[in-house]
Amino acid sequence: MDNWLIKRAQLTPNRLAVQYQETKLTFLQMKNNVLKLASQLAYYAKTEERVAVITSNNLQGYLMILAVQQLGKTVVLINRRLAAREINFQLQDAAINLVVQDDDFNLELEKVQQLPFAKIVDTSVVNTITPVTDFNLTGVTSIMYTSGTTGNPKGVMQTFGNHFYSAIGSALNLGLMPNDVWLAVVPIFHISGLSIMMRSLIYGMGVRLVEKFDVKRINDILLSGDVTTISVVPMMLTRLLAALPVNTQYHPNFRTMLLGGGPTDLMTLQKATHSGIEVVQSYGMTETASQVIALDAANAQRKIGSAGQPLLPVSLRIAHPDDKQHGRIQIKSPTLAVGYLNQPEKYADSFEDGWFDTGDMGWIDDEGFLYIDGREGDMISSGGENVFPDEIESTYATLTEIAQIAVVGVPDEKWGAVPIAFITFKDNKYLSQQDLRDFGREMLAHYKVPAKFYQLDEFPRTASGKVQRHKLVDATTYATLIN
Ligand code: ATP
Ligand code: MG
Repeated sequence: MDNWLIKRAQLTPNRLAVQYQETKLTFLQMKNNVLKLASQLAYYAKTEERVAVITSNNLQGYLMILAVQQLGKTVVLINRRLAAREINFQLQDAAINLVVQDDDFNLELEKVQQLPFAKIVDTSVVNTITPVTDFNLTGVTSIMYTSGTTGNPKGVMQTFGNHFYSAIGSALNLGLMPNDVWLAVVPIFHISGLSIMMRSLIYGMGVRLVEKFDVKRINDILLSGDVTTISVVPMMLTRLLAALPVNTQYHPNFRTMLLGGGPTDLMTLQKATHSGIEVVQSYGMTETASQVIALDAANAQRKIGSAGQPLLPVSLRIAHPDDKQHGRIQIKSPTLAVGYLNQPEKYADSFEDGWFDTGDMGWIDDEGFLYIDGREGDMISSGGENVFPDEIESTYATLTEIAQIAVVGVPDEKWGAVPIAFITFKDNKYLSQQDLRDFGREMLAHYKVPAKFYQLDEFPRTASGKVQRHKLVDATTYATLIN
């Protein structure tokens, strides 16, 4: 396939490509900037097949990712929020020599050359590079590590074809308008953000790049009518709603809020509906190059709580269903990554009869809509019943006293295992064991009510904010039992 950036600059040279703060670039301007940057970068990246980029959501990092792509090299995207130890692990795993990074990134890394963007931008161009002519659909263009929620992060190798089919699947579901501008506040080093960049090139769509999730600022942009679409994770939706003044609605230009990355409780979704926000739930992972299952506008209300249906290029099945038809979520899709870097066996093990096993559990209703139970590894088998922490957590999360709750299973002599809960209360709020138990008995089947409740100050999390449940089992030793 033709190089998307070059093609875009021919097809729609004057359309907005990206806006960051006060700077706006058309596709033609962006192409010129990226090619200049690629020529400057080529001075340092001569033999490297892969270049690592460490950046937050800023224009320089955005252009740099595209520049690496123009040189025909694979971009390795590193989460800027990781600790040096974690970054070193990923850089060594990916055999990186050269790291290009934000000017204010100040960790010293092992065994690599670290180049701040400013240094590259200041390099005089000796040879102007010729950009790659072809974006080979089977060629790996990005390597990105999974969040590490369940263990060590895996380097996922994504091809141009993965990004292409992902973008097409999304467009066929959400539709495409000539004036579409997608707000990218989710990190461009995660698939949620990188997929917005790739869609921009493929659709000819504008991106509004925002560095930090400042809730007031994001609400202001959504109120202004400058953007039509935004991707958010559940925590962002909760905070946007809390900060949105009553009886205020986003601008009519704003059409879709794409929500994914983790479970969202029903109450939050209903609140969004009341505020007139069209939330499109979605489900996907690093390995599937973004969403593979999503709701559509017509069904967003009717199927609230569902993650939606497989996008056009995607096939979905529930494998090994139990007697209630809950089972393992498995996927076939041209968006499926070609492998885990250096761990081919591990990736091969994720397939069953050609289907990719997501590690998540769920069920499909009679109209084909998927409901997600949670991760298989988090499932608690209690007295013959399968219990998922997500359901218990989202039920308790509706209590206004609770700031955060996480549930894990612990061994139990009588039942095999039982759920226990860790809770952080909101400022000056508290609930007794009796209150918590009574609430659970009213709302949930008895075997889902946590056997014990603990108070905890801080939860073990990944750098992207996901609670690492497997680490919580040990927390009983230092958390306070609620009486
Ligand atoms: P690791 O694979 O390293 O343990 P991770 O799975 O958290 O980390 P990601 O690829 O960032 O890494 O996240 C994908 C996972 O997020 C999915 O497998 C699923 O468990 C969860 N997820 C994504 N979307 C949803 C959703 N709509 N509802 C519930 N869970 C979701
Ligand atoms: Mg995963």
